[in-house]
Amino acid sequence: MAAAKERKQYVCSACGSTQLRWAGKCPECGEWNTLTEVVVRAPEKAGLSWRLRRV
Ligand SMILES: [Zn+2]
Repeated sequence: MAAAKERKQYVCSACGSTQLRWAGKCPECGEWNTLTEVVVRAPEKAGLSWRLRRV
């Protein structure tokens, strides 16, 4: 049941840019400690896991 692929991204609360890696300072706007971790699910992966369950 935990086969769903989830990716972590970091969203800057100041400028709204998304980063793949956490950084103390946002590379887009230069603000400090504005990156917040968010979990992103890939809906396309659901179909893939459904196939794997049938096999
Ligand atoms: Zn920013």
